[in-house]
Amino acid sequence: MHIKEVRVEYARRPHAERPIRDALQTLSGGGHVAVEVIADDGLVGQATTSFGRGDGAPHTLAVLIEEELAPKVVGQDAERIGQIIESLKAETEYHGTDGIATFGISVLDVALWDLLGKAHGVPTYQLWGAYRDRIPAYAMVGWSNYSVDELRRQCVLAVEEGFRGVKLKAGAPTLEEDVHRIESVRAEIGPDIKIMVDANQVLTVNEALRRGEAFGDLGVGWFEEPLRADDIDGYAELTRRLRIPVATGENLYGARAFRRFFERRAIGIVQPDLRRAGGPTEIRAIGALAAAFDVPYASHGGGPAALSLLLCAPSAIWLETGLRASPEAFPRLEDGCALAPAGPGFSWE
Ligand SMILES: [Mg+2]
Repeated sequence: MHIKEVRVEYARRPHAERPIRDALQTLSGGGHVAVEVIADDGLVGQATTSFGRGDGAPHTLAVLIEEELAPKVVGQDAERIGQIIESLKAETEYHGTDGIATFGISVLDVALWDLLGKAHGVPTYQLWGAYRDRIPAYAMVGWSNYSVDELRRQCVLAVEEGFRGVKLKAGAPTLEEDVHRIESVRAEIGPDIKIMVDANQVLTVNEALRRGEAFGDLGVGWFEEPLRADDIDGYAELTRRLRIPVATGENLYGARAFRRFFERRAIGIVQPDLRRAGGPTEIRAIGALAAAFDVPYASHGGGPAALSLLLCAPSAIWLETGLRASPEAFPRLEDGCALAPAGPGFSWE
């Protein structure tokens, strides 16, 4: 089976009237890029990635995939995904494989694994050898721009939908505001639901130590991205000194970047992002490294490909997702767990 054609489409996301916010940024605009990888026998692998904040971002990524990456994919043996991915890394090395090029490579990687699952007539996770058929799922619902009342309502909705964990944005101007938001949610949803917090890189080491102690006292499940994503010394210090697990990884590119964090003991819970870490091919290596270093692995972001990877990673603990648009929407939940995709490739229904 060889790749005959790669099709690329993109769309802008309309600007929200009231955009969501975390401690670092306002998330509005951007959009998505969809790819189809078509094999010579007519089978189609599909994947979609969200990208950017500016209006022109999706178009920029689409051009990179169409003009630079797709020509290297066409004609290659679809069974040799590793070889295809290595050729794309080599192709983009001159201007930098990290960053936008990795977004392009990752979405193609997802489409190729979707195609391979379909070619074998099985969900892709079955090709990888699963450790489990479900994984606990939590909902990221606590955006910084929500009032405390809105925050509480969102968390109640998540619990009503069946989630056993919620994540709140932290990194407010003061520790007292962070604590007030966490305590308000805890009072509303009771002691049995996990609460995680995420500061999106805005704190100093000293402030992160102070807040991490307080969050630990409140029973928070993990303290995510307190520092700039590349501050490996800072993360090593926090991981050593705080009782609460320090989670990071959503802004790291490629397994080698993760390896450095593992080697330095600078990561308490690893959170690869499907788009930035480099797609399933790279994340499977990161999952193996995490297990070898005894580091639990929680996804950054959800979707059927992220779920499939968690099913096949020895130390996986949580799938991240958001509130579901409808009871039929992804993921299928049972007892707080997302159930394995049922269809071929990454088809989940
Ligand atoms: Mg985060």
